[in-house]
Amino acid sequence: MKVTALAGGIGGARFLQGVRAARPDAEITVIGNTGDDITLHGLRICPDLDTVMYTLGGGISAERGWGREDETFVVSAELAAYGVGPSWFGLGDRDLATHLVRTQMIEAGYPLSDVVTALCDRWKPGVRLLPMSNDRVETHVIIADDEGRRAVHFQEWWLRMRAQVPAEAILSVGAAESKPAPGVLDSIADADVVLIGPSNPVVSIGTILSVPGVSDALRVTLAPVVGVSPIIGGSAVRGMADACLKAIGVETSARAVGAHYGGRHRTGGATSGGTTEELGHGLLDGWLVDVVDAAISADPDAIPGATVKAVPLLMTDLEATVAIVEAALELAGV
Ligand code: GDP
Ligand code: CA
Repeated sequence: MKVTALAGGIGGARFLQGVRAARPDAEITVIGNTGDDITLHGLRICPDLDTVMYTLGGGISAERGWGREDETFVVSAELAAYGVGPSWFGLGDRDLATHLVRTQMIEAGYPLSDVVTALCDRWKPGVRLLPMSNDRVETHVIIADDEGRRAVHFQEWWLRMRAQVPAEAILSVGAAESKPAPGVLDSIADADVVLIGPSNPVVSIGTILSVPGVSDALRVTLAPVVGVSPIIGGSAVRGMADACLKAIGVETSARAVGAHYGGRHRTGGATSGGTTEELGHGLLDGWLVDVVDAAISADPDAIPGATVKAVPLLMTDLEATVAIVEAALELAGV
């Protein structure tokens, strides 16, 4: 069986552990978000791809959920002693080796997808990890504070400002001119099932969808597409996804996020006319919500064109995560 999954960082990576455990014999392709990527100290850093790679490769810090286990921060402390920032981005010593290898390869002319393959040769995540694009696409956030109205890199807004400064808009800079990385569109077209993980709907999944061709591939694939809600009972389980949803005018609820992705099988008036904002992207055959949001699954019109099912969605441990994946596959009918 071929499973293709869209994933961001921590939420996506945890979900993928469940996918791999639920279907160990499946050929799993992961389309990873690169909108969080940033260059610091001359090093190209891909936080979400690394989170997926370290998590599935057994190298992730269990406590933090990002970066390496048994990490030290000697280099960061030395940089701080020189007064060289930013101090808000955690760069561990072990982790730095990954960024050094990546930067060296990129400067030698390798596309990011080849770099990811090379890094995964060490980590053996048990999935084929693809960046959404080999082109540079960066999430920037338009904010207005004491220093005026300006665009900041997503990481600065998320980590330094803790998403406390309201976002006027969230932009996927470079997306319009970007191309999906080799294998991305084929992995959607050739899949037996496509899963949209419980990742941030705006800056993880939304960014992947901003790469031209990806949404269209999801809309036309013969594979069933099932999404898992990252919102439970009106809030993001961990993190600050509500600040991102607010910026795009989507309510922080499992229903609104499902409607934003949109059902694939709308009939009658809904298919003609209407905008993406009203009708969503038309991506989903199925939408999994948590049991606390079961009222959504009871309403047949909750997400027109998609079937909604309620199961426990907290990824408390691997067993619970596997159960979520099984429910998603069942909803997909595979
Ligand atoms: P990031 O790139 O590290 O922020 O990670 P992702 O974008 O992949 O995932 C972040 C999202 O995961 C958050 O917005 C949460 O809503 C969601 N999330 C975290 N833990 C859980 C969980 O146990 N269950 C569900 N359903 N969603 C979760
Ligand atoms: Ca991320």
